Amino acid sequence: MQSNTIMRNAWQQRIIVPAFNIPYIPMMEPIMQAARDEDAFCLVAVARLEWTKFQSKSMAAISREFQRLESSDHVRLHLDHIPVIDEDNLKVPYLDLIREALGLGFQSVMVDGSRLPLDDNIAATRAVVDIAHEAGVPVEAELGAVLGHEADPGMSYEEIVRTRTGFTSVDEARRFVTETGCDWLSVAFGNIHGAVSEALRHNKKVAAQLDIAHLKDLSGAAGIPLVLHGGSGIPAQSIHEAVRHGIAKINIGTELRQTYEQELGASESTDKAQAAVLIRTRSILRDFLEIGGKKDQVTGGV
Ligand SMILES: [Zn+2]
Repeated sequence: MQSNTIMRNAWQQRIIVPAFNIPYIPMMEPIMQAARDEDAFCLVAVARLEWTKFQSKSMAAISREFQRLESSDHVRLHLDHIPVIDEDNLKVPYLDLIREALGLGFQSVMVDGSRLPLDDNIAATRAVVDIAHEAGVPVEAELGAVLGHEADPGMSYEEIVRTRTGFTSVDEARRFVTETGCDWLSVAFGNIHGAVSEALRHNKKVAAQLDIAHLKDLSGAAGIPLVLHGGSGIPAQSIHEAVRHGIAKINIGTELRQTYEQELGASESTDKAQAAVLIRTRSILRDFLEIGGKKDQVTGGV
């Protein structure tokens, strides 16, 4: 079943689909094992900054590992954040990267034009939708600013929430979805990415406060599955409430990355670090997201 059909099934049934980021290639195996063990459905995802600033090497390396491991219908491969302008304010050849991903068999892709003015974000996203849809692959886009990838976001998390900085505009969301034809939309309503700057990346993430009333308005305007980036560190109750109001996919990066890095640092054993990721991912699927045993409901059992 195609990833977009799966996502829409999940969205209609209010079942969340987690996308787990892979900043280190050995993390993929235990995450896929966890999905099978819990009979849950999830995506494994790699973002550009995970091969430029972490150790996932390349899209090709990630795709090879996915193909080496794939043996079930519990997982799909997703390309996360391909920025048009990156976290260091540099231009990215995003269309070339998306084309490469489509050629490598990525089953859904994300283009992130959120650092651009609205019209430019629409144009860039539209260009990606055109080539991805031709290949039968759904597109996630981002509107508003889910901060945290920058070395210095310029203000504290408390200030971001109090001033609603970067929150996705309801009117813009309506226009954006209509004009781009994107399939899933990443929105900002109090969520924040885990820090990737060297100074902050080992710190515990702040507990995010989601503005559910704003999410409801966004969901009504967008009319497509919405995506919650920065899923680590959000209380379970808030996640479940967000799922009831239009969130169909949650990106989880920081929590598993830190699990892997901490165990690897302590034991210097990749096996032990993988074992720690397996335990933590199973717990996230079963206890935190409560999607254990739900794979058939999401994929239609095919
Ligand atoms: Zn993100």
